[in-house]
Amino acid sequence: MKILIAEDDPVSRRLLEAFLSKWGYDVAVTRDGREAWAVLGEADAPSLVVSDWMMPKVDGLELCRKIREMQRSHYTYFIILTAKERKEDVIQGLEAGADDFLIKPFHQEELKYRVQIGERIIKLEQRIMVLASTDPLTGVLNRRAFIERMEAEINRSIRESTPLSLILTDIDFFKSINDRFGHQAGDLVLQKFTEQLSKFSRPYDFVGRYGGEEFVVCLPGGDEIHGHSVAERMRKKIEEMKTTLPNASHVKITASFGVASLRIGYKETVDSLIKRVDEAMYKAKHEGKNRVCGR
Ligand code: GH3
Ligand code: MG
Ligand code: MG
Ligand code: MG
Repeated sequence: MKILIAEDDPVSRRLLEAFLSKWGYDVAVTRDGREAWAVLGEADAPSLVVSDWMMPKVDGLELCRKIREMQRSHYTYFIILTAKERKEDVIQGLEAGADDFLIKPFHQEELKYRVQIGERIIKLEQRIMVLASTDPLTGVLNRRAFIERMEAEINRSIRESTPLSLILTDIDFFKSINDRFGHQAGDLVLQKFTEQLSKFSRPYDFVGRYGGEEFVVCLPGGDEIHGHSVAERMRKKIEEMKTTLPNASHVKITASFGVASLRIGYKETVDSLIKRVDEAMYKAKHEGKNRVCGR
């Protein structure tokens, strides 16, 4: 885990760095709040900060307040180091949003355990975030998380004038799979289906469960031609796929695909793109299923 150190005093800074590295943490070392703030703005920034209170430029309290004001996708656990131990100081620190205090000169073991508390909280938060955003059956993003992420991707595409495509797929005659083989077999088919969809995803693509047997794949950077080509490869793979049931019988399925791409220059939103991809998918159903249609 990454920890950000902000400390202007060289001796204390070196001690913090030495201890935290010795305990296996990956440390980023800064000398004041301004430097620390810059590190927090980078991608993959640390989620735990050990910061001195009194520092030049931006002090620890101000740094903490700035972090709390910022809309971040994850929580930042903030430990403030201080020689101040009066009640008023402690209250001021808590008001700024600090999670914990360490009185200087700090004790090695105390630092270790206080950092561990922070680490536990961060890990819990990460676990909750994963549970809240994934579909438990298939492990792909749930609908809310998918839309949230797509919103960010569409905004980025519009800002940077880069393409983005969306694929919506719905398994054909899925009700009959449940009717013939049972609901558990249906669940297994859904898992195999999403496994295949995920195999076609590049690292920045993402898959979500839109509804019961309807899934969405977002392809940031992918234009219409790319979207169609990925959908067609998926369609073919699904057609070839065989799901083996616990009783050794095989189930085969097909799926219908709709593709829609962001139109640069139009006022596109998540809703407008989903509406078009939905129409495209229904067109594929209407024209006989097991095919890819655009809109
Ligand atoms: P079409 O070819 O027009 O798409 O027909 P379909 O049978 O696939 O579509 P329909 O909407 O009639 O049925 C979808 C079925 O998907 C009904 C529902 O019971 C089933 N389903 C939805 N979610 C789950 C799930 O999590 N597990 C299982 N096993 N079945 C599910
Ligand atoms: Mg200081
Ligand atoms: Mg269906
Ligand atoms: Mg459906």
